[in-house]
Amino acid sequence: MNCFVPDELVVERGSESSSVFNNLCSTLPQVPVRIVDDVRVTAVYDRSVDHFGAAKKKLFLTRHRGEFFKKCPGSEGQVCCNYFVINFASNCPMDCSYCYLQDYLSDNASLKVFSNIGDLIDEADRTLHRHRGLFFRIGTGEITDSLALEPYTGIVREIIPYFAEQSNVLLELKTKSDCVDNLLDLDPKGRIVVAWSMNPRPVIERDEHGTASFAERLAAARRCQEAGYRLGFHFDPIIEYPDWENDYQPMVEEIFATVNWRRVSWLSLGVLRETPGLKRVMRQRFPEARLLAGEQVLCPDGKLRYFQPQRIQMYRKMVQWIRRFAPMVQIYLCMESKEIWQQVFGFFPACEKELGNQLAPLD
Ligand code: SF4
Repeated sequence: MNCFVPDELVVERGSESSSVFNNLCSTLPQVPVRIVDDVRVTAVYDRSVDHFGAAKKKLFLTRHRGEFFKKCPGSEGQVCCNYFVINFASNCPMDCSYCYLQDYLSDNASLKVFSNIGDLIDEADRTLHRHRGLFFRIGTGEITDSLALEPYTGIVREIIPYFAEQSNVLLELKTKSDCVDNLLDLDPKGRIVVAWSMNPRPVIERDEHGTASFAERLAAARRCQEAGYRLGFHFDPIIEYPDWENDYQPMVEEIFATVNWRRVSWLSLGVLRETPGLKRVMRQRFPEARLLAGEQVLCPDGKLRYFQPQRIQMYRKMVQWIRRFAPMVQIYLCMESKEIWQQVFGFFPACEKELGNQLAPLD
């Protein structure tokens, strides 16, 4: 995977004393640094050009002013998996044509990492102690990629030792990168899941710009498994195109020929979906993208998806291919209705807590 080198590092006054600032300066020595009083004033982009693409070229370092820890918003009317998120960065240096951040962060597009990681840990600690009887699945990849900036920031390396000690947590680091070097000498103590979003090679080459290749992701997954990490895989978004099965089936086989499914905590499946707003941005930024060619319908949550019978067929095929190699692995659907669950699995979770508990570790 290519190195990320921003054009400039913009640092809000006060963040120069953080470990993240030191890590950025030592790993990106060639990048000019500008200290400013307020990054919000500096992060203004010309919206007549590709402002979202331009925002990925400048890296901001600032304190996070709000709460770090929150419940995943999910999607109205869809089965929720009781997931929590911690955001230590916003936006992503990679550039997938279907990325929902293009719409979601349209008004706040700057690529930011947060310097007050001690506050993140304090806040998580208060929440986890207050609810010792509850089990938390926590992800860091809601509005960024969990590992793409790790070689420069060292944030994940700083938080793993804390989460590894907690008895009621699985921390998921979700990525399309292969940036795992910082993780391999740490002891995850069974509490850290490194998860890859996977698509077949032709989809990665066409639509996942700047990400690690399929082979690089799989090699990184294997290295993490050998270092004691649990793994996850997200087949999301699954994209329908002529003969898509000829790419997705061998992809599933190759993954399970490389990693041990017994140490895979979960797999998720989700088809391509987007809001009409995102579809407009995708057409502007990636007019050549083929993935919008498939027919879609507007669903009750305001997102466009393939027709229901087509989605059910696609999920059933994926489940069948996965079960051949990983008969007991936990599989869930991301942002799908109870009706679709019923058609694919023959059941649906009674409540979000039930699904969350199913995904909790047994040991
Ligand atoms: S890796 Fe994830 S966050 Fe980054 S551009 Fe792709 S979809 Fe968006």
